[in-house]
Amino acid sequence: MQQKYTSIDLWYALVVENSQDKWLIENMYAALAQEPPHILSVVAERTCNLQCKHCIFQAETSSDKMSHCSDLDVVVLHIAQQMPEGACLVHEGRIFRPQHLAWLLAVRKARPDIKIGMIDNGSYLVHDRSLHTSGFAFDWLDISLDGPEQIHNLQRGNAKSYAQAMRGIAEAQTYLQPNGRVHSLFTVTKLNYASILATENALPHQVGEWHVTTLTPARPKIALFALNQHEFNIAWQQIVAANTLRPIHFRIYVAEDIAKLAQVVGKARFCSAVEQAIVAPGAIQFVLEGVEVTFYPQSVSPTETFVIDADATYRAPYAIAFTLTELQRGTSRFGQNVRPYTNAQIHSGSSFRVLYQNGVQNWQMHFGVQALVKEKHIFSSILA
Ligand code: SF4
Repeated sequence: MQQKYTSIDLWYALVVENSQDKWLIENMYAALAQEPPHILSVVAERTCNLQCKHCIFQAETSSDKMSHCSDLDVVVLHIAQQMPEGACLVHEGRIFRPQHLAWLLAVRKARPDIKIGMIDNGSYLVHDRSLHTSGFAFDWLDISLDGPEQIHNLQRGNAKSYAQAMRGIAEAQTYLQPNGRVHSLFTVTKLNYASILATENALPHQVGEWHVTTLTPARPKIALFALNQHEFNIAWQQIVAANTLRPIHFRIYVAEDIAKLAQVVGKARFCSAVEQAIVAPGAIQFVLEGVEVTFYPQSVSPTETFVIDADATYRAPYAIAFTLTELQRGTSRFGQNVRPYTNAQIHSGSSFRVLYQNGVQNWQMHFGVQALVKEKHIFSSILA
């Protein structure tokens, strides 16, 4: 019987083993189309009480009316009902609103097997009463800390954001299921790369999983905060040291940061780790100097999560770098054609599988192959 390869197996052959077989690219995307995500992400509100320096979203006005007009709650439930077993739903923020409880409760009732979490900055506590009254409880809450107080507030552009995040973590248990978990994410930027150890020290005991990631330079304004090699080296030393005190899940979404990682650990060590990498859906995982590193290649990113935007539209990864107005108009304020970021408007008859398969085709054509070429170039220069 012929062995069936997953998209990430084929990605590994193309990028890490530098296979030149052109048919592998078609096969990789054919496999990807058969691997629908297990995560359903809902961008429930486009505005935020903050505008952090590293945020992929731009400053936007509330999308609440738009969500109401496009039946976001009906659409979320409809897609959630079609998700595979073991799926999870993530309220991707940007901030929680009491009206989101309608679809959160509906999904909980229709699919009690689906784990439901939320990424938040602590501002969900503004609506503590609505949460209490509803009886809804999350399976996990993910509340970011980007440094000790002064640094976190600087990155978040707000003098009270650290206190808000700490309170959000301290009180999380009240809004969680009995065995619910608290996670925290640290996004490394030019402002906080030397504060990773200090943050480990400040992390409240409630935090179970600690994730560290590099900034995704999806917009020119935030790209200014991406690390250069020297800063990356310092950040890595701190990650290695902090990892001995508390396990770090280090996630990389940016291929250029793989080159920086290889540079700091040295070619031999990097090659040996990547040779022993294990493949996970949409990612490879390896261990370097004791740290668990997960790299999510952009070329196969549609399999990571199915994104429902605030206007009940299925969008491609990184669409959130554009405002809803830009996406709906089809051009960015700088004149860029952003139509390819919109896969389809979702309605009560939409098929999750068909939407996803069309989304993969769209990704391959407009973004995926281009990202793959870059990944091949970066890995071949490291591994040559
Ligand atoms: S809290 Fe999150 S969504 Fe809001 S601006 Fe900061 S990074 Fe963006």
